[in-house]
Amino acid sequence: ERERLARLRHTPAITLDGQKVELLANIEQPSDAGAAVHAGAAGVGLFRSEFLFMGREGKLPGEEEQFEAYKAAVQGMQGLPVTIRTIDVGADKPLDKVSRDISLNPALGLRAIRWSLAEPAMFRTQLRAILRAAALGPVQLLFPMVSHQHEVHSIVQQVRLAQSELEARGVAQGPVQLGAMIEIPAAAIMVRSLLQHFDFVSIGTNDLIQYTLAIDRADEAVAHLYDPLHPAVLHLVAQVIQTANDMGKQVCVCGEMAGDTAMTRLLLGLGLRSFSMHPAQILSVKQEVLRADTRKLQPWAQTVLAAESPAALLEVAQ
Ligand code: PEP
Ligand code: MG
Repeated sequence: ERERLARLRHTPAITLDGQKVELLANIEQPSDAGAAVHAGAAGVGLFRSEFLFMGREGKLPGEEEQFEAYKAAVQGMQGLPVTIRTIDVGADKPLDKVSRDISLNPALGLRAIRWSLAEPAMFRTQLRAILRAAALGPVQLLFPMVSHQHEVHSIVQQVRLAQSELEARGVAQGPVQLGAMIEIPAAAIMVRSLLQHFDFVSIGTNDLIQYTLAIDRADEAVAHLYDPLHPAVLHLVAQVIQTANDMGKQVCVCGEMAGDTAMTRLLLGLGLRSFSMHPAQILSVKQEVLRADTRKLQPWAQTVLAAESPAALLEVAQ
């Protein structure tokens, strides 16, 4: 089976009815780029940059060190696009030493973009390092856990500031597209207005499920209730895909759902054409894509969406 899959590495990911699908890799370190290219990824859809910051005993990487890391990822991808997510620290990914106290309910606290906007100097250090790496290859900037309109304005302001800081220093920088993670229900519901300001969105289903269902994704006691097929979750995912497609904006799913072969046909049926996942899952998902016919999957996906128990319908062949 493994060898059969390996033969798909260079096969383009196109459905039976000719729909092109983009299969991207999630990476945590620049050195993961090798595995991504090897798996035939069309690029990196999610570089979880916080891994560069973790386990550092409070000594966070500066602009030069970050630049070297982003540069290594960009060069490792050999001209393929790299989407770098700004630091996403929080309950499940604590830094050894954060300059603020641990909050009462970390998943609902000062994490991800909230943390970056509370630490603008640190945020701009990261932005400058990423903008510099963008001079060396195609880079997209992705912001985690955006939900408020004022956050959007602050983000754009900080990016502009970082750009002018580099300009003032005469340092080379490249163009970047800006995107928001959709992983808070509020952001999914308001995706149309977020997309007025962003070039693309990426759906973080891991957190979207957690926040939609009020299930701590790290709590074993409620793990059986963490259900990617809950109709409410599917409705939010479907709505984000549809809205982005209607607006002609890129939309990707970069949570675990994207690498789950049981979900591939449903996501294709909902109109998704870009999936980002662990490199090890790319070939299995590609196999599903090659067997899929989106003309049949589209109406079927609507019945799944309308079902009380979508899981039962997922098994039915299309
Ligand atoms: C997600 O929430 O789905 C996601 C991709 O981000 P992370 O798993 O890093 O929180
Ligand atoms: Mg997340």
